[in-house]
Amino acid sequence: MNEQSAQSRIAQLRSILGEDSVLTRPEDTAAFEVDQRRLYHGHALAVVSPRQVEEVAALVAWCVQHRIGLVTQGGNTGYCGGATPDESGLQLVLLMRRLNRVRSIDAANFSMTVEAGCVLANVQRAADMADRFFPLSLGAEGSCQIGGNLATNAGGVNVLRYGMARDLVLGLEAVLPDGSIWRGLKSLRKDNTGYDLKSLLIGSEGTLGVITAATLKLWPKIRSGATAMVAISTPADALALLGLLREHSGERLSSFELLPRVAIDLTLRYVSATHDPLGQSYPWYVLCELTSGTTENLNEQLQQTLALAMERSLVLDAALATSERVRLDFWRLRESVPEAQRHEGVSIKHDISVPVASVPDFIAEASLWVRQHVADGFLVCYGHAGDGNLHFNINRATDGENQAFLAREPVIKRAIHDLVARYHGSISAEHGIGRLKREELQRYASPVQLACMRAIKHALDPHGIMNPGKVL
Ligand SMILES: Cc1cc2nc3c(=O)[nH]c(=O)nc-3n(C[C@H](O)[C@H](O)[C@H](O)COP(=O)(O)OP(=O)(O)OC[C@H]3O[C@@H](n4cnc5c(N)ncnc54)[C@H](O)[C@@H]3O)c2cc1C
Repeated sequence: MNEQSAQSRIAQLRSILGEDSVLTRPEDTAAFEVDQRRLYHGHALAVVSPRQVEEVAALVAWCVQHRIGLVTQGGNTGYCGGATPDESGLQLVLLMRRLNRVRSIDAANFSMTVEAGCVLANVQRAADMADRFFPLSLGAEGSCQIGGNLATNAGGVNVLRYGMARDLVLGLEAVLPDGSIWRGLKSLRKDNTGYDLKSLLIGSEGTLGVITAATLKLWPKIRSGATAMVAISTPADALALLGLLREHSGERLSSFELLPRVAIDLTLRYVSATHDPLGQSYPWYVLCELTSGTTENLNEQLQQTLALAMERSLVLDAALATSERVRLDFWRLRESVPEAQRHEGVSIKHDISVPVASVPDFIAEASLWVRQHVADGFLVCYGHAGDGNLHFNINRATDGENQAFLAREPVIKRAIHDLVARYHGSISAEHGIGRLKREELQRYASPVQLACMRAIKHALDPHGIMNPGKVL
């Protein structure tokens, strides 16, 4: 596209969306042209931020007419480069941040309708103010948006009890790739009327449409809880402890996170206001939490289960959160691991899942491979072990060299992902595919699944304008 036609397109966009909704100056657009891990640096024709769903629809219709690729961006916290434009200068970045109203809360129906640009923490707060609970929770909740959470089918720390983002949705509103608005904001618990379009759009990472609003499920407000940091010897003990906690507390077990000592050490080193949770250091830790919508003595319940686990030699030591401040300290240790890893230096990351019962064997086999083959790196394997989801990350060793370490990423990824496949696991448990794992998806998904996905993409988006170059 030459300069003249670029200017004419930008003028057209301004006439559709208004002068202040179209950014083109490099100092205004730069932050939206790079992903949060700084793996991809794109260049966009413009960055646009409409205020209403009708404006999004007009924008998409214009994109179809001119065959312009549209990259929807929420909080830009995604790990797979899905919200970053390519380097061509021909794509548009669509910011959702101005569509950020809580449209309604229906406490009696245990549901709320919010626009896609609402920051997740604000959704949680709005539910809380209505005496209800919205359970999606993750480290980036202060900046990620609910639209991005649904587009990536985000997981987080409460999946064990409430499921992934897809499980939390009753209805959706979206602009489809032909510019039509699908008004599917139903608030029904039961609705078997044909194909489930909302489930298709959720997790499609902006490749099948722009999510503009959602009706979300709510739960009773949390009235009691108990949190513990538990020291254990091995991931096998973590699995046994998980079983025990589920047997004794049932649905009340909402989080079960696994942390190796090295993750605690990194966090203590780089993140302020963090404290070693127990008197001495142990090989592994589990951060677990029980919650309930009624007033119960969950501390006592958790204590009893941990005492039993100690009798069975599953637990070495444990600290119960005696106050909300201590509870937040425990969670800070867990949530700050990505930040601490970043301070430590470059890393090669894998967001994988295996069946929960296979977690210990997978960790043993994969760790052995890393020890034998990655002399210039060390493993930081942590995550949502209760869901079988591990962030299997390898940091460069302090005396290693960045370029040489990163050059081996393809070989390391192949070995880890092949092992995941052998365990019947997933190469993307919760972060999606984006641009980062597109080739990996081609390798590990079955031909039948890929053909189905391509057919759906072509049927809904025949001109390929929705987030081109992502997922497929
Ligand atoms: C510190 C930290 C901790 C994290 N922890 C977790 C975790 O525990 N679990 C987890 O699942 N993820 C986690 N993430 C990853 C990330 O926060 C999630 O993927 C999140 O859901 C992305 O939301 P976002 O608004 O930032 O989306 P973006 O990064 O802006 O976009 C992600 C994808 O969604 C698409 N998209 C965004 N909005 C829309 C929309 N309205 N309509 C259609 N498509 C859209 C984009 O095109 C892109 O493909 C973490 C990230 C960080 C930085």
